[in-house]
Amino acid sequence: MPYHSIVCVKQVPDTANITGEAMKADGTVNRAALPTVFNPDDLHALEVALDVRDRWGGTVTVVSMGPPKAADVLRDCLYRGADRVILLTDRRAAASDTLATSYILNQAVRHIGNYDFVFCGRQAIDGDTAQVGPQCAEKLGIPQVTYLERLIDLRDRTARIRRNVGNGWEIVEVRLPVLVTVLDTAGEVRPPAARRVMKYKRARVRAELVAAVAAAGGAGVSPADVEREVERRAETLRSRGLMLEQWDLDDIQADLKWCGLAGSPTKVHRVQSIVLTKQGYTEIPPTEEGIRRLVRELVVDHTLG
Ligand SMILES: Cc1cc2nc3c(=O)[nH]c(=O)nc-3n(C[C@H](O)[C@H](O)[C@H](O)COP(=O)(O)OP(=O)(O)OC[C@H]3O[C@@H](n4cnc5c(N)ncnc54)[C@H](O)[C@@H]3O)c2cc1C
Repeated sequence: MPYHSIVCVKQVPDTANITGEAMKADGTVNRAALPTVFNPDDLHALEVALDVRDRWGGTVTVVSMGPPKAADVLRDCLYRGADRVILLTDRRAAASDTLATSYILNQAVRHIGNYDFVFCGRQAIDGDTAQVGPQCAEKLGIPQVTYLERLIDLRDRTARIRRNVGNGWEIVEVRLPVLVTVLDTAGEVRPPAARRVMKYKRARVRAELVAAVAAAGGAGVSPADVEREVERRAETLRSRGLMLEQWDLDDIQADLKWCGLAGSPTKVHRVQSIVLTKQGYTEIPPTEEGIRRLVRELVVDHTLG
């Protein structure tokens, strides 16, 4: 019996290389200025979905919400074995916090439909909230299993999952459909397959074609010319199965009051790299007073609390 999985993957700023341009004056993340990477936990979410398909049959569909540049992680998913990828891009979704992000992803999952699993990473390395998966499950009205470390078995639409709860494991059974968040300790991820890289490296979403045609045409080219050339290139890609799906908020019937800044009660005040400056070390006597002093020091320099 085949199982259909939807995987939510995020392109994230490479937090190991945060620069002074990370934040815009309005407190939103300046994603265009930062080098980006595939959110590490999401690579494991993809791997678990591909493993389900390899063991029991079915399909793997990947969705990512982000700027057109996020098409890079979707191509990476195709290189690793995904069957279908969808970019959800819309300026009206910019600056969405986790509430808005999970609402939009829930609308996208409903629009894809016919799924047995929704796989998310445990958390994204930029927002680091681990909130989107559970919030999305809530909006979809389906059960959730977080912190998957191994999918043990799948039988009669019931999944048996080992989850890591920090100080041990828990084995749970859950009826499908279910949303699962995956840990980065859930085994090895398969590398991109050279044959698939050759096949999909020219795959594009519409927004990338528009940007390429506009850049090639320069200032003198009329919007109608751009449109005609974009359509010609899209037709060529479609004929080769290389035109990637691109959806906006209208395509998923999203209610705009739940999207973007309008739908986001959270305001990110400031993002900064914490650089530990203290040289040398402090000797702490193993006494109650010693521990109390240590905790006070860690609170004072904002390492704790
Ligand atoms: C430094 C910083 C702090 C922030 N703090 C908060 C905060 O406290 N509260 C808040 O509401 N927002 C916060 N945000 C905004 C938050 O990053 C975004 O809302 C984001 O879209 C989702 O939250 P997250 O990055 O924490 O994702 P998480 O909840 O950690 O993501 C979990 C999983 O959800 C899926 N997912 C998340 N985003 C997407 C996406 N765009 N496309 C596809 N799948 C996705 C992935 O599978 C991912 O592994 C913060 C952003 C930054 C940069």
